[in-house]
Amino acid sequence: MKNVVIVGGGILGLSCTYYLQTSGSAHVTLLEAGTFAAATTSQAAALLTRARSDVNDGLMVDESHRMIKHFEHTFQQTFMHRNGCIHIANQGDSFQQELAALQMHQQQGKQRGIESYWLNAKEIQQQLPWLHIKNESLALFYPDDGHADPYLLANFYRQAAKQAGAALHQGIRVKQLLESGNRVVGVRSESNHDWLADAVIIAAGPWSSILAAQHQVKLAMAPIRSHYWITDNHNLLQPDHAMAISPTSKAYFRSENKGLLFGVRDSQTCIADPKELPLSQQDIHNHRFEQDEKGWLALEENWQSLIDICPLLETAQLNHYINGISSYTPDGLPLLGPCDQWRNLFFATGCSGAGIAWSGGIGRLLSEQVLAQKPFVNEGRYALNRFEQHFDTVDPMDENFRQQCARARSDKKTG
Ligand SMILES: Cc1cc2nc3c(=O)[nH]c(=O)nc-3n(C[C@H](O)[C@H](O)[C@H](O)COP(=O)(O)OP(=O)(O)OC[C@H]3O[C@@H](n4cnc5c(N)ncnc54)[C@H](O)[C@@H]3O)c2cc1C
Repeated sequence: MKNVVIVGGGILGLSCTYYLQTSGSAHVTLLEAGTFAAATTSQAAALLTRARSDVNDGLMVDESHRMIKHFEHTFQQTFMHRNGCIHIANQGDSFQQELAALQMHQQQGKQRGIESYWLNAKEIQQQLPWLHIKNESLALFYPDDGHADPYLLANFYRQAAKQAGAALHQGIRVKQLLESGNRVVGVRSESNHDWLADAVIIAAGPWSSILAAQHQVKLAMAPIRSHYWITDNHNLLQPDHAMAISPTSKAYFRSENKGLLFGVRDSQTCIADPKELPLSQQDIHNHRFEQDEKGWLALEENWQSLIDICPLLETAQLNHYINGISSYTPDGLPLLGPCDQWRNLFFATGCSGAGIAWSGGIGRLLSEQVLAQKPFVNEGRYALNRFEQHFDTVDPMDENFRQQCARARSDKKTG
């Protein structure tokens, strides 16, 4: 039986706890500085989309869908809204390119047994009467996709892990790792309590970089702004409408009851310095980026293409603006697994705006890695050291490197 300490009780720490504790081969102690799932996890729009061009990424998301079904069955509560997701190739200059990407996603999905089918412009319009769809546009529809409250999902990982015997602690901030030779042997809290462990997983969200840097591990990620808006209720919107992703408009849409939740991929490089991240969970919710405090620049930049596809935005009242932090890597894929410098030290972070959708896959992979089992995906794709040949400097404390990470967000095309 391995003793594992996990630092950070967001959705990723909780998911790792669940998989390891239910494996029967580990006892997990989870240490969370604040309260569970109250940091970036609670900010997510939580689109659980399965269109991926790589089979490994697809399997990661499929695992989350499998877990959600499992929790719905175990806890007798349906919490995922399975309204489907419509990926639109808009008539226009980039139509062929967008279509080719969708065809590739469909091909990929078929290998994983994922159902998707084509909609013509009329069919898209019927499903989403609040969008303006040009006659020659096409879309790929994933009927089983949807969204789920990220706080609830995290809480189900927590409940199931607790039932299986994991020790879950809130209000305990880890201040350092305990080293012995080239091994990590545990962690020390701010109140100088030590927890010894056979393996330690850092799943501390955007704060992971600071903890890692204290032990000479340079994580290839940066805290980048993610944000979205929610409109007031509108008579064209229904809670059961499918989600929509439009690469031309760099936007995604989903209904939030009878309002519209939408996000844009903007070119403002709103990057935080990891050393200046607010310490408390509450302050992360109040954090604003000086360059574009309320997101108006991002909206302005994309306004024309947004109202071209979604004319109701011209008159809708914007009721909420949610501005948060995601940890982006230069290729938009997470940082998962062991680090080269220290034995027994693992990371589950850098999830580039997709940590909710990937949570099941990440928990499963980390559990397999810690227990030295055969991984269900190609772990090298997410390895911590994969950028070393491509960049002169890989260092979250380096401003130029952080800019490279920001590019992964502005180039992002899927949900
Ligand atoms: C606006 C927005 C929209 C998003 N939309 C989506 C989406 O549609 N789909 C999707 O999949 N993802 C989305 N995401 C991304 C998703 O929210 C993240 O990928 C995910 O929440 C990351 O979870 P985490 O557990 O790594 O981090 P967090 O939830 O931030 O958890 C980290 C935890 O570590 C704790 N911690 C930190 N330091 C210490 C320490 N020293 N000791 C102990 N505990 C510590 C913190 O208190 C915190 O609770 C979005 C994010 C934002 C901001």
